[in-house]
Amino acid sequence: MERDSDSLREEYFHIAFFSMEMGLDHKMPTYSGGLGTLAGDILRSCADLSVPLVAVTLASNKGHFSQRLDKAGNQVELPMEWRIDDFAALRQPKVSVPIGVREVKIQAWEYLLTGLGGYQVPVYLLDTNLFENDPSDREITSYLYGGDERYRLSQEIVLGIGGVRMLDALGHTTIRKYHLNEGHSALVALELIKGMRSEHPEYTNEQIIELVRKKCIFTTHTPVPAGHDKFSASLVKSLLGGYLEADEIAKICPGNELNMTLLALDHSGYINGVAKRHEEISRNMFPGYPIDSITNGVHHVFWTSEPFRKLYDRHISGWRKDPFDLRYVISIPKEEIIQTHRDAKGRLIDLVNAKHGIGMNYDTFTVGFARRMTKYKRPDLLFSNTERLAAIAKNTGPIQIIFAGKAHPKDWEGKELIKHIFGAIKRLEEDIKIVFLENYDLGLAKVITSGVDLWLNTPKRPLEASGTSGMKACLNGVPSLSVLDGWWVEGCVEGVTGWAIDAIITNRSPDQSDDSKDAENLYEKLERVIVPMFYRNTDAWAEIMRYAIAFNASFFNSHRMVQQYLLNAYLT
Ligand SMILES: *Cc1c(COP(=O)(O)O)cnc(C)c1O
Repeated sequence: MERDSDSLREEYFHIAFFSMEMGLDHKMPTYSGGLGTLAGDILRSCADLSVPLVAVTLASNKGHFSQRLDKAGNQVELPMEWRIDDFAALRQPKVSVPIGVREVKIQAWEYLLTGLGGYQVPVYLLDTNLFENDPSDREITSYLYGGDERYRLSQEIVLGIGGVRMLDALGHTTIRKYHLNEGHSALVALELIKGMRSEHPEYTNEQIIELVRKKCIFTTHTPVPAGHDKFSASLVKSLLGGYLEADEIAKICPGNELNMTLLALDHSGYINGVAKRHEEISRNMFPGYPIDSITNGVHHVFWTSEPFRKLYDRHISGWRKDPFDLRYVISIPKEEIIQTHRDAKGRLIDLVNAKHGIGMNYDTFTVGFARRMTKYKRPDLLFSNTERLAAIAKNTGPIQIIFAGKAHPKDWEGKELIKHIFGAIKRLEEDIKIVFLENYDLGLAKVITSGVDLWLNTPKRPLEASGTSGMKACLNGVPSLSVLDGWWVEGCVEGVTGWAIDAIITNRSPDQSDDSKDAENLYEKLERVIVPMFYRNTDAWAEIMRYAIAFNASFFNSHRMVQQYLLNAYLT
């Protein structure tokens, strides 16, 4: 019986999940931020739920960078040395893809992600660092988001075309669906078209495309235009001239440009955004496409701190297997929630004090802000009016703040923002203890999201597709104060699960943010509602912590998300 059900799965059920980055382990620099972290959480849930899925990404042999910050907040980027063979095993087959005038050879490392019940999801890390390759081709899979357009398109050829070929060579010949996580892997569609053509020479182009659409699922992740890869037709010709006919290149480059998002949209039968609001925004950006949404979630066990894991284990024995059970946190006594959070906070404060020696206090109201440092996320909004902030800390109750986040190496505005924040830290030195922790990664994210008292998020609407760090916070009983964008549109019940910045204006003009109005509203919420409640009404505060878990952690987790992918996309 066992064998039968296994072979059934093999035959009808494999999902291939493609993503440029994947946050598998904090020691593996194969991710940069939210997108990769989310991909990792999807895979962790698939492993727990025994979803027969295989994943494909790049080896990123030299990784995403490690961040150092000098005294003025200048970001220094160091290569992140790591050995892939400490984590993954080299598989036998090699495949090749034509890039420019050369055939580039690719090998795959297999990383096995083991779920709660022992089920393993294989992740294939594609690697061009082979002796038989030209020295420049050996670097194609070295740097995550490094290099120029030519480098980037070469990487996407390896990921998309090479990925399909590698799965085939590894014996995964019965893939039910190809899930393209963001447009980086859209070239999967071209390789599938090629395969179907040779399999069904009698089919028309339309029939072939229809078949490919049945196979492809596309998830778009950002309304920020720069987040959608575009390549010039001449670059496409130069790199894919040996793979595609001239008329095929013309077809995928309308307006002399290859837009990876459009390529994915045109070849996918199921398309989704990553939150309800993001579905609306994406439909406006890409009219005519049937865009649905599956709201993101985070892996509940991975992102729950040790103290809260123990608390949940004691009260809700089934929560690791079934995070819907987190709903029953509502019956855990408030004092226990407060005490458990104190333990998690102690770990964060100890880490901050050990690194920065600034004597942060266990009892002081602590705000956290950590994510990629980039303009639309407005990490400096909190410092719009430093006198006002200092006055709140002085008159209403003391505040301390913890920041972290990398700027992409070419995001000059993001790097300026870090320096800005360093300037504000200096100006506020006498009034508020603030630190900026270096080198934000999965490990640090766990400690910060679970250790602060309030999670702050201030993106410019409507540019936050989902956001996931606030979900990590709510698993640990940490409420959010956030702009109503992305997931928070769904997760915020004002004064119950946290607070919205700018709630009233949102209803009138849903697609805009006014920096000064948002900052004003942020200060007001802190001054009138949040800081007073924290210091003077512990019972009300604990109630909010409990609702953040019961309402939000029970829903915004990746087990629910994967089940929705199964229901709406994988099994259709
Ligand atoms: C969760 C996470 C993010 C995403 O944070 P957002 O607030 O959703 O942008 C980025 N980087 C790391 C390391 C994370 O763990």
